[in-house]
Amino acid sequence: MKVMVPQCIEDTFAGITASGDLVIDTGTGLVALTPCCQAVVTFVDYSLCCKGCYREVSLEYADDPHIHTPRAQLTVEIEP
Ligand SMILES: [Zn+2]
Repeated sequence: MKVMVPQCIEDTFAGITASGDLVIDTGTGLVALTPCCQAVVTFVDYSLCCKGCYREVSLEYADDPHIHTPRAQLTVEIEP
């Protein structure tokens, strides 16, 4: 399976979740990136938002993600 990964997360990319979100390993834990911007999430007041576009995202993104397909089983392509 092929996956497109932005160059900025190439080094930390760990795999994808069951829903296809990219997961990075920050060194202190795993973080799922938003499907809209492939960005981390942040709380704005009481809503969890994408740090790229500030649209609200599911609270699931606040939890540690579960890697469904690890990087070793993926063909990683860097986005131009
Ligand atoms: Zn976004």
